[in-house]
Amino acid sequence: MRKFLLAAAAASLAVPVTAQAPQPPKLLVVIAVDQFSADLYDEYRPSFTAGLARLSSGTVFHNGYQSHAATETCPGHSTILTGDHPARTGIIGNTWFDQSIGRPDKNVYCAEDETVPGTSSSAYKVSAKHLLVPTLGELMKRQWPGSRSVAVSGKDRAAVMMGGHNPDQRWYWTGTRFDTDLGIAVPPVVAKVNALAAAGLATNRPPLEPTPLCQSKAREIAVEGGGRPVGTGAFARRAGDQAGCRASPEFDGATLALAAALVDSMQLGRRASPDLLAISLSATDYVGHTYGTEGEEMCLNLTELDREIGDFLQVLDSRGLDYEVVLTADHGGKDIPERQRLAGVADAARVDPALSASVMGKALVARLGLPDSPGLLGDSSFGDMYIDKRLRAPEREALLKAAVEAYRAHPQVEAVFNARQIADTPYPTTPPETWSLIQRVRASYYAPRSGDFFVILKKDITPIAHTERAVATHGSVWDYDRRVPILFWRNGMSGTTVEHSAETTDILPTLASTIGLPVTPGSVDGHCLADVPGAQCAAH
Ligand SMILES: [Zn+2]
Repeated sequence: MRKFLLAAAAASLAVPVTAQAPQPPKLLVVIAVDQFSADLYDEYRPSFTAGLARLSSGTVFHNGYQSHAATETCPGHSTILTGDHPARTGIIGNTWFDQSIGRPDKNVYCAEDETVPGTSSSAYKVSAKHLLVPTLGELMKRQWPGSRSVAVSGKDRAAVMMGGHNPDQRWYWTGTRFDTDLGIAVPPVVAKVNALAAAGLATNRPPLEPTPLCQSKAREIAVEGGGRPVGTGAFARRAGDQAGCRASPEFDGATLALAAALVDSMQLGRRASPDLLAISLSATDYVGHTYGTEGEEMCLNLTELDREIGDFLQVLDSRGLDYEVVLTADHGGKDIPERQRLAGVADAARVDPALSASVMGKALVARLGLPDSPGLLGDSSFGDMYIDKRLRAPEREALLKAAVEAYRAHPQVEAVFNARQIADTPYPTTPPETWSLIQRVRASYYAPRSGDFFVILKKDITPIAHTERAVATHGSVWDYDRRVPILFWRNGMSGTTVEHSAETTDILPTLASTIGLPVTPGSVDGHCLADVPGAQCAAH
């Protein structure tokens, strides 16, 4: 009785906690699963039993959107913790062309500093300088100088875009180890995870055990364009096979092991001010590119991902931490066209190689009788295209006109917009499923970096003509690449599946309101999601 009274007296002295204002979590964990489409999430959701099942028992937006046209890794990650579309983050693609820079390589990687002498877009100095807006971790540090911000990923660009400009630690895989651009010494915990990862890489891996669900998806499919058949893989690999390691669930296991080690070593979630841990899991993207999204490989990968996330959450539980998790994706994805046709998608096809920027540019330069020039600069057969600035103004004008006409005339092309049309389009503010094609392009258009025109391929055209390396990809304006899950979970949150759309730009204002971090209304593109318990949207 005496004990009870003491407890009651102590409670009466405590700050009253109302149902409307629960204690905010001490640790925010934001997980991006690279290339995790809402289509895949919906397909596998009933099969999850571990971490992804737990996160699905919170507030689920399965109609989440990476709303913009350039559905690539760098732009997608740039939206998740900034609240802004790529038009405002400045991250319009994984790469773009800047013909004004001094170095011979005019291609610029999104997460590099191209002013460092001796660098190129493939041998670069990692940097966050292209990201034009602050991340959640930066805003938290401004409000609470003691807040910690940590980013971990399989890819440097993902860690850079989620960590932003001043994280305490940022680690990403470089092929053989996790490294950082921050110039800090490798702490013992990172060295330990690196040693384990190196030992794993140096070991032959037997195939994963088949499961009944995944065996039902095992069917060998031949792909066009010189690639190996896919559909029945189980991630057996030889010692030292870096690409095989990356395109398998062991890759995410290593990333999550590092994240868990940093929670302990940095004592995340244990101070007065809240901390942020951003994790991007890259294996699903490499599995999708290497094998497509509907075979035994993706099934085994997602089964392992579910388990690995579950193990990671159990580590957080075992430390007694009060944390909230958001899980989403940087973009969706789509299966190989050969298997899609078997599944009834009659128009699924690979792109005509004549549409690639280099082939088209060369053909147009010859046709117009222009001086020696590639004509067009572009990474692929769609998206941002640039006119060679070394041509004279009348030549550039003639080439732009001819290129837009030639792309528009091709049966695999849906639409072509020039930069003026895109710039003149009002910034979209309605729900993302209502956006026109040019509004999607507008949301990832930033004049100083974007192309002279933008090409959109027809739905179900896979922009990979030759499949020696990747067999499937993403990057389109279509919803299979735009629609992603957005899951919020905290202990005690009741399960709700929300049908209305949400955007990945809504994550920052929602989490900010949850931890009492002021965000000026209208200062970011996203909106606080009132469906999420704990979000104090009315206050913002
Ligand atoms: Zn990606």
